[in-house]
Amino acid sequence: MTDIQTNLEKVKQQVAELAKQHQSDNASAPDRSPIKVLAVSKTHSPEKVREAHAAGQSDFGENYMQEALDKIQALQDLPLCWHFIGHLQSNKARLAAENFDWVQSVDSMKLARKLSSASSADKPLNITVQVNISREEGKFGIDPDDTESFCQEILTLPNLKLRGLMAIPEATDDPAKQQEYFGALRQLFQTIGDKFNPPEWDTLSMGMSGDLAAAIAAGSNMVRIGTAIFGPRQ
Ligand SMILES: *Cc1c(COP(=O)(O)O)cnc(C)c1O
Repeated sequence: MTDIQTNLEKVKQQVAELAKQHQSDNASAPDRSPIKVLAVSKTHSPEKVREAHAAGQSDFGENYMQEALDKIQALQDLPLCWHFIGHLQSNKARLAAENFDWVQSVDSMKLARKLSSASSADKPLNITVQVNISREEGKFGIDPDDTESFCQEILTLPNLKLRGLMAIPEATDDPAKQQEYFGALRQLFQTIGDKFNPPEWDTLSMGMSGDLAAAIAAGSNMVRIGTAIFGPRQ
């Protein structure tokens, strides 16, 4: 087995164990959908993505438009599902809508409107709203206090499929802080789901290589993993 295959196996096993733990800690909770692993391939070559695909991985995340477009082009022969997860300028909305299946980093109405106009009703774009859950100064993402009304407005746009929320909390090794941020996003996810009942509200995207345990314990159902699958980035 190659390193990438071995790493993927390990990550999937870890995710499965954490999911089981979460399930038994919340015995009264209904069974949740399986936790999806998004392989974050930014800075890594198309060959590595090919290896991960050969090991059964289908969903990949990219942060930089030009790099991503080159990679998507080079891998056109594979049935991959591409997620844009970096900051997206609204002048690149059309490129994103035309080349990606998901945009996870929706953080303004201007961007959302452009993504909607660049998509169509028969091929709506999957999106999650990025929330600045740890309220960091100058960081991308909707303020937690504005997220409800933001989602409500998103739901009026015709060609977007609002799937849920995404966050990149402040980096910290403090488990209490991690729990606080992930718990807050989980709560928002629940509140918005209950209040507006969006038709396909199923994605709570939180957790990366360094904090996936805390994220899954708080109810994440999509973890975005780069380093633990592909190794360190240059
Ligand atoms: C790079 C990146 C990741 C993956 O980070 P790792 O620590 O390498 O797992 C996840 N989410 C976003 C938004 C990223 O930019």
